[in-house]
Amino acid sequence: MRLYDTRRDRVVPFVGARTVRLYVCGVTPYDATHLGHAFTYTAFDALVRLLEHRGHRVRYVRNVTDVDDDILRTAREAGRSHEVIAREEVERFLSDCAALNLRPPDVEPWASEAVPAIQRAIAGLLEQGVAYDVGDGRVYYDVRAAGDALGALSKLDRETMLVEFGEKGGDPDAPDKRDPLDFLLWQPSAPDEPAWGSPWGAGRPGWHIECSAMAMEELGGVIDVHGGGRDLVFPHHEAEILQSEGLTGQGPFARWWLHTGMAGLDGHKMSKSERNLVFVADLRERYAPAAIKRYLLQHHYREDWSFDADQLDAACQSVKAWADVAGDAGRDEAAEARMVDALENDLDTPTALAVLDELAGAGRGESVRWGAGLLGIDLGAA
Ligand SMILES: [Zn+2]
Repeated sequence: MRLYDTRRDRVVPFVGARTVRLYVCGVTPYDATHLGHAFTYTAFDALVRLLEHRGHRVRYVRNVTDVDDDILRTAREAGRSHEVIAREEVERFLSDCAALNLRPPDVEPWASEAVPAIQRAIAGLLEQGVAYDVGDGRVYYDVRAAGDALGALSKLDRETMLVEFGEKGGDPDAPDKRDPLDFLLWQPSAPDEPAWGSPWGAGRPGWHIECSAMAMEELGGVIDVHGGGRDLVFPHHEAEILQSEGLTGQGPFARWWLHTGMAGLDGHKMSKSERNLVFVADLRERYAPAAIKRYLLQHHYREDWSFDADQLDAACQSVKAWADVAGDAGRDEAAEARMVDALENDLDTPTALAVLDELAGAGRGESVRWGAGLLGIDLGAA
């Protein structure tokens, strides 16, 4: 089996241990679940199912980022409690995940509940001398202490990093920083934001350290596969590497880094700020979840793609054709093997789906049922 590893920037053999430790960055519960989220978690569902098919046990951790700038700003603008918004949005998200028949994670830690572990991680980084306390409630990671490690994942040069850091919620121009790219580990809370007591003043954690602490708490200091959307590579995942390796003194923090492509609409990346989100809940009113899942899987996980209603209609016809023959007998073992080969080749779901269409066309009901099961597509819901 082979997977593309972002850090090594190529497709490499996957040789996981019997238990594969998988961490996937979860949602910030304020605009879940748009198709971009659904695409990422459907891709990792396909990976988990393939690994389980190959005899691995998968320990799957996916967090909930319920303490971060985006959700706190959304709550402020709406004049509502961030806790209520988070609970509602997570409920919606989990309902969409269940409809899409996504294998639930084994653990789903919430950042707000992981604050003691996050504080231990920050204290550890200060002790290691790779973080500093500004003295006004802010604690930063000291990127210069990490030498040239920043950029190992994204391959970005410093100039580009500076631009992206500012665009993605960083504070390059904040005073008293040793380097503009130093990122917040702890910060004072605004009066209407949640705050926890700490040795550095009452406040809240930075986003990046939340994921490092939750991943290490649940999976240990070195994990097998770390995943997320490609927009998280810099600075979020670069920061996770520095923090986790800074704490354990071991590397690499993740043996394989897998990143999903961006979903778009009319050529623009789907995002709240672009106001072009397509929500799974809205699609569910018109389409069977099996059709939505098939539609998502027909894009390779690393591909950037644009929502196309005609293609979703075609996916709907395709799963209907599968459901029509799924009760019949008939196997084609060679075609089943081709399906597995495709998935083992960097999770080539488009090819695997094409084999399934071919099996349905040939009336091989048993193989269609098996193949849909391998991809976690519930034909009862087609
Ligand atoms: Zn994360």
